[in-house]
Parts: sequence; C-alpha cells; structure tokens
Amino acid sequence: MASDGSQLLDGRCLCGAVTVRAAPMPRDRLVACHCDMCRRWTGGVFTSFQAEEGYVVTGPVRIFESSDVAERAFCSECGSSLWYRMHARPGEAREAPSFAAGLFENAAGARLQVEFFSDLCPDGYAFAGDHKRMTEADCMAAFAPAEDPA
Ligand SMILES: [Zn+2]
Ligand SMILES: [Zn+2]
Repeated sequence: MASDGSQLLDGRCLCGAVTVRAAPMPRDRLVACHCDMCRRWTGGVFTSFQAEEGYVVTGPVRIFESSDVAERAFCSECGSSLWYRMHARPGEAREAPSFAAGLFENAAGARLQVEFFSDLCPDGYAFAGDHKRMTEADCMAAFAPAEDPA
C-alpha cells in the first residue's frame, strides 16, 4: 500500500515472465504519445502512466537506451514494451518510470488526460474526448532540455 493509501495494481507482459506492481501518480492520469520513437517501439501509440513510489518489477527486463535522455524497457522473452524513463539530469533525482498502461487490466483504471505529439497521430485513427492535446512544437517547448547557459 502506498503512502497516500492508493492501491498498487498488478500488471504483466504478454508471456507473463515480467510482472509489474504499480500505481499511477498522479492517480488516474493516463497519457498517450504519438512521437516517432513511441510509434516504432509499440507499433502504434504508447499509452502510459507515471508510477508513484513503491512500484515493483520482477522478471527478465532489458533496457534499450533509446536516446541520450531516456531509456525504454522491454521483456527479454516476449518483447512487450514495459516502461519509458527519462534519465536524471545533473542535480535531479531520477524520475519514476512511465509504465505501459496495457500491461494492466483496464489500463489500471486511469483515464486519458493528455496526448503528446498529437499532430503526429496517423490519419487513420484518433482518440475521442476533450483531453489536452500537445503538438510536436508544444512538446518540444515544454520538454526539450534547456541549453547550457555556460
Ligand atoms: Zn514477456
Ligand atoms: Zn513518445
């Protein structure tokens, strides 16, 4: 049980070798990403939630360093996408992983609240609803590492 009383939920990869116990933080917040890397990594769109403290992962996990700023983890047995995590920047604590929502039944009960790289969503499908949408330009402005002022 996490400190704020929310319940840790159980998920697993396709083959079941990797298990994940985690709770969304903030609770109920599901995000979707249409960026090129998420699209190739998942074969579609990556839906995920960031986990609060206390998550537990067991099983044969492999880490792929997908860029200078982040890692992506997958099951070495079946290849299921497990999580995305930004590397810590100097002086910052490492942030919690964002677990693939599909590992959990009913996406751990979380609801879609923001769509990243919304303008890169393929023409053939779209998410309904009035959640927040951020274009590539919005995302780059919000998340690109600040230039070193030195
Ligand atoms: Zn697996
Ligand atoms: Zn992405």
